[in-house]
Amino acid sequence: MRYSQMFLPTLKEIPSDAEVISHQLMLRAGMIRKLTSGVYSYLPMGYRVIRKVEQIIREEMNRAGAQEIFMPTVQPAELWKESGRWNFYGKELLRFRDRKDSECCLGPTHEEVVTDIVRNGVKSYRQLPQNLYQIQTKFRDEIRPRFGLMRCREFSMKDAYSFDIDTVNADLSYQKMFAAYNRIFERCGLKFRPVEADTGSIGGSYSHEFLVIADSGEDGMAYCEGCGYAANLEKAEIARPEEQAVDVSSFLTREEIHTPEVRTIEEVCAFLQVRPENVIKTLVFSADGVPVAVLVRGDEEVNEIKVKNYLGCDILEMAMDDMIQAAAGSPRGFVGPIGIKCRTLADYSLMNLTNMVVGANREDYHLKNVNFERDFKVAAFADLRVVRESDPCPRCAGGIHFARGVEVGHVFKLGTKYSKAMKAIYLDKNGKEQYMVMGCYGIGVGRTVAACVEQYHDDNGIIWPLAIAPFQVIITPVNMNDQDLAAAAENLYADLSSQGVEVILDDRDERAGVKFKDADLIGIPLRVTIGPKNLAAGNVEIKNRKSGEINILSVEEVKKFILGAIRQL
Ligand SMILES: [Zn+2]
Repeated sequence: MRYSQMFLPTLKEIPSDAEVISHQLMLRAGMIRKLTSGVYSYLPMGYRVIRKVEQIIREEMNRAGAQEIFMPTVQPAELWKESGRWNFYGKELLRFRDRKDSECCLGPTHEEVVTDIVRNGVKSYRQLPQNLYQIQTKFRDEIRPRFGLMRCREFSMKDAYSFDIDTVNADLSYQKMFAAYNRIFERCGLKFRPVEADTGSIGGSYSHEFLVIADSGEDGMAYCEGCGYAANLEKAEIARPEEQAVDVSSFLTREEIHTPEVRTIEEVCAFLQVRPENVIKTLVFSADGVPVAVLVRGDEEVNEIKVKNYLGCDILEMAMDDMIQAAAGSPRGFVGPIGIKCRTLADYSLMNLTNMVVGANREDYHLKNVNFERDFKVAAFADLRVVRESDPCPRCAGGIHFARGVEVGHVFKLGTKYSKAMKAIYLDKNGKEQYMVMGCYGIGVGRTVAACVEQYHDDNGIIWPLAIAPFQVIITPVNMNDQDLAAAAENLYADLSSQGVEVILDDRDERAGVKFKDADLIGIPLRVTIGPKNLAAGNVEIKNRKSGEINILSVEEVKKFILGAIRQL
């Protein structure tokens, strides 16, 4: 492509509404333009990258045995009512009525549609497994769309759905997708990590997120170098500490202390001259309307997702004042475990601790020198707190480290959630009806591109990996009015193009400095500069955008160099 003919509206200034680097650079490099809040058009440069990522995804999905389909964006409400998600899904589901007054929605995901297709097409175990995928436009009416392609409302997504006869086979389908995802992100040239994740609103039993490592990423992960354990911060487990023998003789006499208006951990510590590690924080939750007390060390935070999963409840929220008053007999701020009238769980952080401070369940009072067993019992010790960077690895003796990333893919084991709700049934070997066991697997295509920019950029612009660059090579003659330079540039351009290399010829009548700046901004991996001094010796200069390495090579050598680099993809 000739630069002079390209639709490539680059910007010199950083657009004021773009907060993150990928959004700024994709706007500046003429890749995307905003149509309305959270809705973007891909311009030629952006769409070429999108198509390359899609192609890698397609090849690896096909290689893993998945079959491509294409499902509609507009979906009837009936299917969503059947699965139970019509009411459960929040306002991200854009609902509307058509001219016949039928309720519809724009698909934020396609579990319902694909389950409907498969339940109508599969009768026997002989027809399973199946894995169907599509690369299609999704709409989620995000309350606060931001960060360009990172959190938008309309976006391109690859979504795949597997159907198996049982959980053993569903695990195999999951592993195939897990392996395919690793290959996809490797081929895109990204540094990434699969991490264990919570199953969230889609539901199901098990899941992994794929995070592209970037300091600017919204998602945190905890990982261990030793054994490779990695999980997102919501999910990251904490090992159960060794139980130590209790030395009852160390228990001090329990005391009730008047602590007027002393409610928070900080206030308690200041008033009683103790450290947060010596205080038990008692939080009362409503689990499907039933009060549950959760105890955690004063310097730790309760992880509500862990509590919710432990209890297996549908809705977990902080208890309201009346529920706290009924369970504890005291207002918020003075609640403690002794005599509380509800199920009580304690986090592992409290194991082996003695002589603690707790709320007295009496307004304006706390208790000192409180001990497990002597003063109160708990239903169980469990992993209920937020992980810290200093925590030991839950799998080996190593230490936990934190890193940040951008979530680009997610693989779920769905189990029979949808097949039960929508009666996706097959007949097994014995002619008995069984529910299909499902998995679902998503990749945000635009998000992968944005994550790539977050990972690979410098002050001058984007640095595309060769595999997904919009063009692989840019030829920059320093002066198009010099006939020798122009002729050499045209010849190289024609030659590389004819061999399938994706080349831009910067044929603009601009200063070399301007051309170099634009080439860096749009991030083309290899730049061939044709200048009078090198050309007089039959040479050109080739520069690697990522490493900055410069080589002076003959025209023949530069062709070999470029073709060699592309062949390695
Ligand atoms: Zn480990």
